[in-house]
Amino acid sequence: MYLMSEYILSKSTYIRGLQCYKSLYLNKFRPYLRDKITEEQLAKFARGHAVGKVAQQLFPGGTVLSRPGKPSAIKTAQLISEGFPVIYEACFISESVIVALDILVKQESGYAAYEVKSSQALSNVYYNDAYLQYHVINGSGLKPEKFFLVHRNAEIELSDSAGLDQKFIFTDVSSECEAHEDMVQDNIVQMLNVLKLDKSPDIFPGRHCMKPYPCDFRGVCWKKLNRDQQEELLSED
Ligand code: SF4
Repeated sequence: MYLMSEYILSKSTYIRGLQCYKSLYLNKFRPYLRDKITEEQLAKFARGHAVGKVAQQLFPGGTVLSRPGKPSAIKTAQLISEGFPVIYEACFISESVIVALDILVKQESGYAAYEVKSSQALSNVYYNDAYLQYHVINGSGLKPEKFFLVHRNAEIELSDSAGLDQKFIFTDVSSECEAHEDMVQDNIVQMLNVLKLDKSPDIFPGRHCMKPYPCDFRGVCWKKLNRDQQEELLSED
């Protein structure tokens, strides 16, 4: 039932590729050129991890898989075949892409997928993340019955005594995921082609360097820009 190929792309590299093919290429073949990670980014990762752990309690008693990789994908397939009701960090590989889903929950007729975001609003990146995950999970042989993005309710603190389900907002993005299957497929093909190039694609810095995230190759790429050009890009919304 489950196709278990090797993988080249992940969720984070796919999102990186959507922003810039050069960033995708450099990240794969010249990772040492990346700018140093900031304290702020480290804090954001830690926050995301902590919220993810709290959200697991929405569906308690699950089995946690270790870091994404082929062993985790094999274990996920095994747990599903054995009918495990809840799996955290369920891992899937298809079409050379690996994804790890925050929470997979068995239902009467299939599985529901939940991807948790620590922010208090949903952005395009999160939707693209969901589209990719749905596509890969489906491609691996398990079509999710439902796919939900789950994010923090801005009105209730995590430390508040309110019920856990009130601290998170669930958005059913199943139909959008299905509608974007072809787009995701095309993007994957394009990105895999970029990673077959002999050298990085010739992409000049521009507004895309800051959106949706400040690119961590600006240290090398932006040497081509003078100070005024750099400041202009930094000042754009
Ligand atoms: S700095 Fe800009 S052009 Fe360079 S890799 Fe990043 S997004 Fe691409």
